[in-house]
Amino acid sequence: MRQQRLLIPTLRDVPGDAEAASHRLMLRAGLIRQLSSGIYSYLPLGLKALQHIQTIIREEMDAAGAQEMLMPALHPSELWKASGRWDVYGPELMRLEDRNGREFALGATHEEVVTTIVKDEIHSYKKLPVTLYQIQTKYRDERRPRFGLLRGREFLMKDAYSFDRTGSGLDDSYKSMYNAYVNIFTRCGLQFRAVEADSGAIGGTDTHEFMALADVGEDTIVHCTSCQYAANIEKAVGTLPEQSEHNQKENVLQHSQPVKVHTPQMTSIKQLSQFLQVPPHQIIKSIAIEADGTPIVVLLRGDYELNEIKLKQAIGANDVPMLSEADILKLGSIAGFIGPIGLKNVRIIADSSVKGMRDAVVGANELDYHLQHVELERDLPMMTYHDVRNVAQGECCSNCGHELSFAKGIEVGHVFKLGTKYSSSLGASFNDENGVSEPIIMGCYGIGVSRVLAAIIEQNYDERGIIWPASITPFTVHLLTVHVQDETQMKLSEEIYTTLKQAGYSVLWDDREERPGVKFNDADLLGFPLRITVGKKASKRIIECKERRSGSQYELSAKQILTHCHSFFQTGGRSSHE
Ligand code: ATP
Ligand code: MG
Repeated sequence: MRQQRLLIPTLRDVPGDAEAASHRLMLRAGLIRQLSSGIYSYLPLGLKALQHIQTIIREEMDAAGAQEMLMPALHPSELWKASGRWDVYGPELMRLEDRNGREFALGATHEEVVTTIVKDEIHSYKKLPVTLYQIQTKYRDERRPRFGLLRGREFLMKDAYSFDRTGSGLDDSYKSMYNAYVNIFTRCGLQFRAVEADSGAIGGTDTHEFMALADVGEDTIVHCTSCQYAANIEKAVGTLPEQSEHNQKENVLQHSQPVKVHTPQMTSIKQLSQFLQVPPHQIIKSIAIEADGTPIVVLLRGDYELNEIKLKQAIGANDVPMLSEADILKLGSIAGFIGPIGLKNVRIIADSSVKGMRDAVVGANELDYHLQHVELERDLPMMTYHDVRNVAQGECCSNCGHELSFAKGIEVGHVFKLGTKYSSSLGASFNDENGVSEPIIMGCYGIGVSRVLAAIIEQNYDERGIIWPASITPFTVHLLTVHVQDETQMKLSEEIYTTLKQAGYSVLWDDREERPGVKFNDADLLGFPLRITVGKKASKRIIECKERRSGSQYELSAKQILTHCHSFFQTGGRSSHE
């Protein structure tokens, strides 16, 4: 395709609020434009790359036996009410009314719609198993749309749903989707990890997230440095290192009871630690929360963070916001100085990190006071312990005991065993061989197609621009004519263009009347794998090649071009799309 007429509006500068590299580069290289917060148009180059990702997804989904279909974006509210999610999904679900006042939602996901189809169309075990998928636009009114395509309010998702007769059937469907995802992300050129994830309120058994490794990622992945263990921090468990040094000292001062100390305005762990000259791990945080309306105090070591998901599971609550200052007063305490000793009429639970702690500091439930020299076993003998903290640096793998390591990841895919949640609420059942009706067992499997595009760029760029993997690149070859007024250069360019196109390569021909410097800079910014420059040696039929990723640059004779391209792209990247 000729660049002269193609809409590739490259930019030198981008708005300051574009924080992520992929966002900046997609704007600069003219791949996308923002219409509104979290809502983007794909310009021709962006769309090409997106289509290449879709092709890979379709090939792998089809190979795994899944069937493509397409469902509507507009969903009548009755469906979401029937599944119970009209209320539960919250403000992320975009809601609207038609002219008659009938309520609708813009689909954030399609369990309700697909289950209804299966309920109506499948009644016998003979039609199962089946896996259905679509590539379709989703709407979520994200609290914080950000990072361009990484977190949009309108975005492209591949969502698949499996329907099985038995749990072991679901295991097979799940495994086959899992394997398809490994193939998809590998072919997209992503560095990724499949990690164990939290199954949330839906309560399925297995769920894995596929994480593209990138510093901009909003998720934290915990993985073992020795075995295969990898999990989202939401779910990760670790084993605590040996009791802290301070505790082990044999000369811990023995006090027969806690001692009250004046700690004026020392409400944070950091302030308190400096003021009392006590390390944070020797201080116990008391966090007051409201578990589905009931106050609970959670004890945690001062240097650890509370994990809300684990807490919800430990106490069986759906919602665990912080307790208000006014409600803390009602408990007979005061914000900033809460502590477990002497606190009445409220349930107290502790993270396992505080178990056996000696000589600890806790709040005294009195303004500007803490208690020192607390001995957990002695002063709070009836405490129940749970794992409700985020795994932290220094903890070890609970499988093999080796050190755990941390990385940031972008969730590009998610596979999930749903069980019968939707089939039960929406009435999708089948008759088995004996004519007995059973609910269908489901799994769901999502890929953020537009997020994958951004994640690929997030992992493949340098200061000059994008560096496309050959499998996704909008064009494989960038042909550049230095002086378009020069007839010899134009003739040779045309010849190479035709040869490569006929061989099935997708070629963008920069035939613009621009200064060579502008063309070279744009070529680096657009980042196709191979650049071929036709310049002053055209009369000798010599051209120049530059590989975008390695930066290596060399001359070739025109007749070598085709063989060279074949060997350069032998790992894939040839494409007949254009
Ligand atoms: P996140 O935790 O990032 O919000 P999610 O758990 O809500 O993701 P799912 O409901 O599992 O996501 O959706 C399936 C896939 O869709 C995700 O794995 C992700 O790749 C993609 N996705 C989800 N939300 C967005 C979004 N706002 N913008 C782009 N892609 C998204
Ligand atoms: Mg989300």
